[in-house]
Amino acid sequence: MSVVVVGGGLAGARTVEHLRAGGYGERVVLLAQETELPYERPPLSKGYLQGTDPRERARVHDEGWYAEHDVDLRLGVTAAQLDLGAQDVLDADGTRHGFEHLVLATGSEPRRLTVPGADLDGVLALRTLDDSDRLRAAIDRATRVVVVGGGWIGLEVAAAARTAGRHVALVVRGALPLDRVLGPQTAPLFADLHREHGVDLRLRADVAELVPDGGGSRVGGVLLADGTLLEADLVVAAVGAAPRVGLAERAGLTVQDGVVVDQHLRASAPHVLAVGDVARAHHPFYGTHLRVEHWDNAQHQPATAAATILGRDEPYTRLPYFYTDQYDLGMEYVGWAGHDGRGYDEVVVRGDAAARELVVFWLHGRRVVAGMNVNVWDVNDDIRALVTSRAVVDPRALADAQVPLPEVARRA
Ligand code: FAD
Repeated sequence: MSVVVVGGGLAGARTVEHLRAGGYGERVVLLAQETELPYERPPLSKGYLQGTDPRERARVHDEGWYAEHDVDLRLGVTAAQLDLGAQDVLDADGTRHGFEHLVLATGSEPRRLTVPGADLDGVLALRTLDDSDRLRAAIDRATRVVVVGGGWIGLEVAAAARTAGRHVALVVRGALPLDRVLGPQTAPLFADLHREHGVDLRLRADVAELVPDGGGSRVGGVLLADGTLLEADLVVAAVGAAPRVGLAERAGLTVQDGVVVDQHLRASAPHVLAVGDVARAHHPFYGTHLRVEHWDNAQHQPATAAATILGRDEPYTRLPYFYTDQYDLGMEYVGWAGHDGRGYDEVVVRGDAAARELVVFWLHGRRVVAGMNVNVWDVNDDIRALVTSRAVVDPRALADAQVPLPEVARRA
């Protein structure tokens, strides 16, 4: 009788925590490929990268916690194969770990650049604490940094490098950074923020090649498809992440850009669950499967996984949520506005966009489907309630900062 959790990130560490908190009294094993105690990743592109947050602050639990809670934490152990028939996980040394329940929390890994020169020295990606250490040291030494990719991590790294005083160019494939997530009305907010801080934005730009410095093994520049050469002594590839599904796929579990699980986080084979970045979970509120690559999801899905193992019927219904910090801008986003702008037909702004103190709402059929508060605090729960209520709202009341958000829903 035991639960084996594969993956010692936030989702894995919270899973073992919720199992114990829920009264699971049998053996709990946590197989963690990294040699670090399980940690949270958001600081790696923010305070930790900038040298303001200590390493320990990223830890999910301190060192003593695992022993105190009788969790058999195996650092530096990679699960290599699942034998679902025998209910065993085989690690890379061939040791078998028998399970009554298996939780996959293998997370995701950065996509790599596939252009010529992508393996030159001075081309870095960011996922782990070690990556963040390497990146911080490289930023310290660098003069010109090129960040490839205008997603959240690319923007946060660009902000860190600018804050450190480096020349920074940001290469973005689309018309604007984040335009697929935020849409054309809202994405300029972040583009303007970075321009004001002196980032050289290269839009609708494709990387053709990374060129070595003087024919050596270190990167010297980024050649764009239009022939522009951006000088660089540090290139950061921030081109998204892919779920780590190899184990699940080889074991024959249903995988579709993530391990497909139901609202109780149960995968396609009995006794197997998945949580966090790797899980594509059925979301009852949206009536579809979603894979959410954000901290909040890895933080909260484990309670549902533990409940399922403990025989409680507690589907995962929490709305997607994420946050970012860049320069002096902090924002939170809750809800889901569909893929590529297909999930909304109206955008409403409340507050002062010029001062970057605002709330943006995405609506579909006059119902709020997502909201983002920027440098405005203590409103995220109200936005969440608006989305959850599915209330038809008056866009003028929504835009009017004098009307409290709970009142907007009541007036509907
Ligand atoms: P992971 O954190 O990826 O952990 C999975 C772990 O499993 C890894 O340690 C991996 O080594 C291990 N593993 C994989 N395969 C095996 C195996 N076969 N055997 C054993 N172990 C294995 N989200 C936000 O909402 N806001 C932010 O500001 C934010 N900032 C971020 C900044 C950075 C730099 C990064 C990388 C991510 C950020 N995120 C942010 C996303 C957030 O960190 C992730 O959603 C979260 O880490 C997912 O947790 P997880 O436990 O599912 O996966």
